[in-house]
Amino acid sequence: MIELRNISRRFGDTSALSDVSLTIEGASFTSLLGPSGCGKSTLLRIIAGLDHPTSGSILFSGRDVRDLSAAERNIAMVFQSYALYPHMTVRGNIALPLAMRSMNRLERFPVLSELLPSARRKAVENNLAVERIAALLKIEELLDRKPSQLSGGQKQRAAVGRALVREPTAFLLDEPLSNLDAKLRHAMRAEIVDLHRTTGRTFIYVTHDQAEAMSMSDQVVVIMDGKVQQVDAPRDLYERPASRSVAAFVGDHPVNFLDVAVDRRQLAPPFEDVTLDTAIPGRTVTVGIRSERLHPAADGALAGRIERVDYLGSSTMVSLRLPSGHRLSAVLSEQDAVPVEGEILRLSFAPQRADLFDPDSGQRIDARLVPARASSRPARRDQ
Ligand code: ATP
Repeated sequence: MIELRNISRRFGDTSALSDVSLTIEGASFTSLLGPSGCGKSTLLRIIAGLDHPTSGSILFSGRDVRDLSAAERNIAMVFQSYALYPHMTVRGNIALPLAMRSMNRLERFPVLSELLPSARRKAVENNLAVERIAALLKIEELLDRKPSQLSGGQKQRAAVGRALVREPTAFLLDEPLSNLDAKLRHAMRAEIVDLHRTTGRTFIYVTHDQAEAMSMSDQVVVIMDGKVQQVDAPRDLYERPASRSVAAFVGDHPVNFLDVAVDRRQLAPPFEDVTLDTAIPGRTVTVGIRSERLHPAADGALAGRIERVDYLGSSTMVSLRLPSGHRLSAVLSEQDAVPVEGEILRLSFAPQRADLFDPDSGQRIDARLVPARASSRPARRDQ
């Protein structure tokens, strides 16, 4: 288990991380997700021992690792740039960490190593380990190539192989797929998840791609402006975002945020058909509705004039303006009729699945929208 306690990191006047506390369970897959510059890489480097916090502590299985070097922490890191040695073959690259660990200077010396029985024995052992890893990564046939003879995905696998061969306690990956094209990235995602399963190691994965984090992780840590916004399983992140910014960052489609006047439980248009299940303080509330949760329906509560239609093949994105002045985006599925700009479209949504936020702080409000008739208090329509 890796524990981060109140980690802060300043670079001069820049606060890269502020008061980050986090627990990463052993053998779990945790993603650090956030926009560019939010502090993800800094946090990863601090865990690896390549950088040090200005304040706060890091514990590995309960032990403070402040004084342990990166090598002593036995953490493996794969960077975006792969950092393979260009003059060495894939076999040499993968074997290098083993040679560094198991052989002394003499045994590693190219000519001497041929003459020393101890070096020959270790080289055979190391080679077996390399071949085992290569089989796991399906790169056996590439072992004798140099990095310049590999594709991006193959280089990435070789770099993963080199990190894995040391049998690290934790495996840290910093945007390892960002240099790959979309198709290969997809395939590699599945491979990394497989690798996590087969090795049973702790994986910590840095990405700014929410789909990557959501599809691969047990736990996602959303970081913004150097602060942890939310730590949750992917599903909980999507279903119960802690703030408006998290809601907007997570998910494939835009979220509609509608600021509406509220009086205890009653909401202003366009939400006359729903009420809050509990009274909330304040005069305005932000209602967040994911665009994929709006569906065309003859009796839909939200009707507006279509201002824009973007046909995307498997779905169609429509933007409409409601009489209340709010704009709404909806993702229509392939089965829905493709509407025309200028038409009136009626949309329904499941009120319980809308998210509510404080318009000032952006934080989630612990209340739900419910159909007006389901509320214990008579709805305005029934009065
Ligand atoms: P990206 O996704 O773009 O790689 P990131 O989330 O990994 O970004 P970091 O690289 O951790 O972000 O940087 C966090 C902040 O700290 C940024 O504002 C960055 O400019 C700053 N920073 C990082 N390293 C240094 C450094 N060595 N000196 C000064 N500022 C730094």
